Amino acid sequence: MDKNHKKLLEFSGAKGAKKFDIINPTSGAVIQSLPSDSAAIVQAKIAKISAGFPKWAATKPKSRAKILQKWCDLILQNKLQIAEIMHQESAKLMTECLVEVDYAASFVAEYAKQATVERDEKIKQGKIFYQPIGAVAAITPWNFPAAMITRKVSPALAAGCTVICKPSDSTPLTAIALLNLAREAGLDESVLQIAIGDAKTIGKEFCESKDIKKLSFTGSTAVGKILLEQCAGTVKKTTMELGGNAPFIVLADADLDAAVDAAVKSRFRFSGQTCICANRFLVAEKIYDKFVEKIAAKVAALQIAPLIDLGAAQKVEKLVQGAVKQGARLVEGGKKAKENFFPATVLADVTQKMDIFSEEIFGPVVTVIKFKKPEQAVEMANDTRYGLAAYVFCGKKNKGEEIAKQLNFGMVGVNETAIASAQTPFGGMNESGIGREGSHFGIEEYFEVKFVAI
Ligand code: NAP
Repeated sequence: MDKNHKKLLEFSGAKGAKKFDIINPTSGAVIQSLPSDSAAIVQAKIAKISAGFPKWAATKPKSRAKILQKWCDLILQNKLQIAEIMHQESAKLMTECLVEVDYAASFVAEYAKQATVERDEKIKQGKIFYQPIGAVAAITPWNFPAAMITRKVSPALAAGCTVICKPSDSTPLTAIALLNLAREAGLDESVLQIAIGDAKTIGKEFCESKDIKKLSFTGSTAVGKILLEQCAGTVKKTTMELGGNAPFIVLADADLDAAVDAAVKSRFRFSGQTCICANRFLVAEKIYDKFVEKIAAKVAALQIAPLIDLGAAQKVEKLVQGAVKQGARLVEGGKKAKENFFPATVLADVTQKMDIFSEEIFGPVVTVIKFKKPEQAVEMANDTRYGLAAYVFCGKKNKGEEIAKQLNFGMVGVNETAIASAQTPFGGMNESGIGREGSHFGIEEYFEVKFVAI
């Protein structure tokens, strides 16, 4: 890392704090060691943003918008450096890191705009005021080290809330770079903090603090449930962006080549480690063999980045081996290469009864399932505890829309896999979460609605 990176990565912890290493998942080398925040340090950081809330809430929306826009500009000016830092700590392909920095900046730009939208309403009975909730906390995962932070922090700041954010211990360096740019833009320690270190310690402090008025979490459903329980004591408001098990339905009249291209794009983004990755390919009987043949040919030629760690690769390997034991047909890949590398894999003849059908694979594995009628595809698609993203590929758009309405998922792409943007609502049904991020829905998560009868 050169001088520019070093400046972005400046971070001082408490004196004598325990340190932990940030590992490059591709080389296994230590990139940097960081001090871990103790419970007392986290409490002090919470106290700072809690004390800072009244001033920030009273700051004119126009001024908040200006600061956010400056932050956005600085992120874009430092795009290459941020992408390089992200690439090193996450192993995400450099091309995808560059795209993510743009995506992350788009949330800051969107909420700089949303900050000045007039929301208060006058009604016959009096007035409705939209007031910022207070000091809020955010916990984010490693698979989008920049975008998951800006998707939470910028609407919160735009609404007038102050924020403390805990990034994943696997990818805290991108978060530090964003924080340093935020400081340069004018977001001081009373407005924005990050907490780095042991997830359980920090999570508990966030959830149990009376000064934190809301928790926004992105991560696995299992951890989301723990945090919901911990938040119960203070009846804390929550936004939960959790796991997914996205179905990708291909009807018999779909443009097969377009569907296969889209399937590969959706499944293999960041080696299959995104929450909206297509996870189950439900394909009409009539085109099933052709689909398997075409996707296997494409997959065989793919270059796959390593998974985040050894545990991730072992989990994928176990699921693939289990599916084969349960009767799935291995068409491509399947054997763990070494360490955290897992090859692009295609499993055909997967059925609803197999464990792999119900699990979020979170790796580079295509599972293909045959259906006879569209009604059966809808039934199988909805046969999951998750409900984040779904996709339908078909010849007639009306049919796609009709199926989309029957799918119990928060986002559905019809002949489309680009379903996430700063301007559209993102979130899941059932065990995929609570609340929405992006668009005006994203900022509304950070307001209390107050009715004043006059
Ligand atoms: P995870 O294990 O749930 O971790 C997510 C975050 O929670 C990390 O910062 C993690 O810290 C922290 N954490 C873990 N245990 C905790 C605890 N007991 N208390 C407080 N915080 C805790 O999930 P992941 O493996 O990083 O991410 C993958 C999951 O996120 C997948 O299920 C994916 O679908 C989901 N995801 C959902 C969305 C969405 O928008 N719906 C977007 C992206 C990812 P450490 O990493 O430091 O342990």
